Amino acid sequence: MSVVGIDFGNLQSVIAVARNRGIDVIVNEVSNRFTPTLVSFGPKQRYLGETAKTQEISNFKNTVSSLKRIVGRTFADREVQEIEKRYLTAPLVDINGQLAVKVNYQGQETAFTTVQLFAMYLTKIKEIATHETKLPVSDCVVAIPSWFTDVQRRAVLDASEIAGLNVLRLLNDSTAVALGYGITKTDLPEDKPRNICFVDVGHSTYTASIVSFVKGQLTVKSRAFDRHFGGRDFDRMLLDHFAAEFQHKYKIDVKSNGKAMIRLMTGCEKLKKVLSANAQAPLNIESIMEDRDVASMMTRAEFEELAKDLIRRVEAPLQQALEGAGMTVDDIDAVEIVGGSTRIPALKERIAAFFKKELSSTLNQDEAVARGCALQCAILSPAFKVRDFSVQDITNYPIKMTWQPTPEEEETELVVFNKNNSIPSTKILTFYRSEPFDLEAQYAEPENLPAGINPWIGRFSVKKVEPVNGEPACVKVKARLNIHGVLAVEGAYVVEEVIKEELLDETEINAEDSDAPISRKVKKLVKKGDLTVVSATSGLDRSVLNELREKEMEMIASDKLVVDTEMAKNSLEEYIYDTRSKLDGVYKAYVNPADKAPFVQQLNDAENWLYDEGDEATKSVYAAKLAELQVVGNPVIHRYREAEARPTAARELRETI
Ligand code: ATP
Ligand code: MG
Repeated sequence: MSVVGIDFGNLQSVIAVARNRGIDVIVNEVSNRFTPTLVSFGPKQRYLGETAKTQEISNFKNTVSSLKRIVGRTFADREVQEIEKRYLTAPLVDINGQLAVKVNYQGQETAFTTVQLFAMYLTKIKEIATHETKLPVSDCVVAIPSWFTDVQRRAVLDASEIAGLNVLRLLNDSTAVALGYGITKTDLPEDKPRNICFVDVGHSTYTASIVSFVKGQLTVKSRAFDRHFGGRDFDRMLLDHFAAEFQHKYKIDVKSNGKAMIRLMTGCEKLKKVLSANAQAPLNIESIMEDRDVASMMTRAEFEELAKDLIRRVEAPLQQALEGAGMTVDDIDAVEIVGGSTRIPALKERIAAFFKKELSSTLNQDEAVARGCALQCAILSPAFKVRDFSVQDITNYPIKMTWQPTPEEEETELVVFNKNNSIPSTKILTFYRSEPFDLEAQYAEPENLPAGINPWIGRFSVKKVEPVNGEPACVKVKARLNIHGVLAVEGAYVVEEVIKEELLDETEINAEDSDAPISRKVKKLVKKGDLTVVSATSGLDRSVLNELREKEMEMIASDKLVVDTEMAKNSLEEYIYDTRSKLDGVYKAYVNPADKAPFVQQLNDAENWLYDEGDEATKSVYAAKLAELQVVGNPVIHRYREAEARPTAARELRETI
């Protein structure tokens, strides 16, 4: 069983596996170390990852990007409508309040929810990992932005289950980076912690975290983010700039044309990257729209001037992270940068100036998150032995529980997990009740959540509560912020006060008095039976999950059939060409002259059939056709091969004598 870590990036994803000699990033079917985070749909099949990227422009209405931004969100969500929609090219729709995307799949208008789309992409990741490691893939650790809320986390877990993956941990991406850093450093201090600030600026989001390291342990001290800050904002800014320029210069409205927009966005991203290493960069796009070619250029100074406001935004999260940790820049021992966008020189300069320090990049900028996830997977997996490294992570948002009070109670709510509470963590709540009751969990500070996310987390109904000896029962409820950062009520039970005999300690017994008591009566709380808790959360019901898993398997089978059919067709085509050409060449001496002409005719007929009615046949029809040809052709091929092998066989025989 492979031990897999997945960095699910908004633009591209990276897969790492733990092997005995260390962590390896694995390559996909076209030997890339990262895979475009895209899914798309066609008349016959789905295209996942690289194949979706290849036809992004021609099939943009059926291509879905930004999976990480939309998973688990609702259609009405303000951020979806105001921000994410701008980056999506396929139409968004509402399915019972859930966000879904409408595409044309196998000739039909079909809507898939964001959870299903995420699952499809994970299917691809799983396939790449299985292919590369040649081992079954199930256990994995998936990175998510630390600002993901309960609904987003549950959506990722549901998607993983639909894809047949067993997530050992949803790991906050910044923590994954910290783990990768900590486990490879052999010189961590024993006592006085080393404080590192990790800065990750990716495609769509930015996180700054402060982590303290001592030997064998990391502790996340604080974290701050700008959820809407990343490479795509720079691309978008350039796009606006050049779209205006081309409107003026060429009288074309790029923004009115979906394909032109994708071409320009791609061109802008490329220009931005070139500017990270050069003082100026060209922008040339052939046939952007209406058969027009466009050309322009930009200097780095112009770029920095244009991006001034964006670049300035890098500072606020750094300040917040320091404040959250109760530190100043002087307390930070090193600043480690990761994420593709930290290659922008002006951003780096700004971060370095803030800390008054040179930045370090001891980690692989593009692979640090995936590597950290693979390490965490190795630590958690029973299949693997790895040096233990303790990860003390924290949660971002306080969670409160509310309830209907009894007449004796005044309290109706309690913040159970504060901001920066460690995860995982368990809290026991005590209630005095004579009948079943409900607890509602929600985020206590909705204003700090991603805008538009419902602060509600779940309702937990404690069943079968009844009075004990006519008095309200003392009920203990076990609330857990689990390893994924998801809230769960793991159980409830009644405790009763009982009087117990307890033997006295030797020192407490009066040795001179033989009648002195050797025990005493004490009141003790004793667990008296478990209560049932019924949870209603945003996660999908088991029955729905099973149904979606089945649907996903059907789509996997259907995609496989398309590929197998194509292969059967190619084999037939190849057999026709190869055999026919060799009948006049190497096979000539081995075919009965009287049989040759009819066989060539049979091959020609098969070829004509292939390009006519046989163009869209099924896999079994292609296989049957090939078998028909092989009945005649294979004996010829066999005689040829035998003759070819003979001299060698004779020589080998001589040599052995
Ligand atoms: P996120 O973390 O936001 O989900 P991601 O993990 O997919 O996204 P990364 O792979 O860290 O993102 O970074 C991709 C971003 O980095 C893209 O916007 C890309 O344009 C940008 N980028 C990559 N190389 C360079 C470069 N040389 N100069 C400037 N930007 C770059
Ligand atoms: Mg990233």
